Amino acid sequence: MGTYTHNGVKVNTMTGRQIILPSPQGKIRWHIRNFTSDQDKTKTIQAIKKGFDLWERIFNPIMFEGTNDIKEAHIVIHFSSDSDRSNPPPRPFGENVLGFAYALGDVWLNDDFDWQEIMKGERTTGRTADLFTAFVHELGHSFNIGHSESNEALMYASYNGVDSALSPYEVEAVDFLYGNIRAMVYKKKWAEERKILEVEAGMSPKATPKIAGGSQFIILGILGIVYFLASKTNIVKNIA
Ligand SMILES: [Zn+2]
Repeated sequence: MGTYTHNGVKVNTMTGRQIILPSPQGKIRWHIRNFTSDQDKTKTIQAIKKGFDLWERIFNPIMFEGTNDIKEAHIVIHFSSDSDRSNPPPRPFGENVLGFAYALGDVWLNDDFDWQEIMKGERTTGRTADLFTAFVHELGHSFNIGHSESNEALMYASYNGVDSALSPYEVEAVDFLYGNIRAMVYKKKWAEERKILEVEAGMSPKATPKIAGGSQFIILGILGIVYFLASKTNIVKNIA
């Protein structure tokens, strides 16, 4: 498995484009399976949510939503550690690796680090790391985005301290990988909004032309199979 580059965006060759499929409502759901003991649960939830919120700005109108039901989650977040035999990762993190993510799937964070909320510019020592910064990077891998050469990018390969800004690299990557799905969700939402407006205005909803409803399901079905196959075969090898 290699990567190819499109307008500077590195993409996994086997998975290609737009693999994570939102729910029919245009939502990608996430679930935190377990928590680090390094900080309050609420702080961890905040950092994870903040990470999804950041990506949501460029995934719009696809939205991210937390769920308590692991079975309906597209992306599950795990804390795990090489040194804890009772909670090992699916493969070892290795020395000084903050985390990894399966392309189109789960994010694993290395709990041999001390996860904290660190302020920008704040100096830290040893194994303390900003959870939000590491998570947004791994989430990028979960979206099937590879590393950027630019140290301005969230997808730069090394952890450089707290980073909270999207760069043109991430914008280009999401546009390339998810542009079609975003357009599809947008079209569906737009059609629904128009239907509501027409009902409110006393017009017959029957007058609303169906906008490729059937073919959307066929496309979703096909992409679903591709997603399923890809999720069985691919692991992003780029790690933080
Ligand atoms: Zn990485």
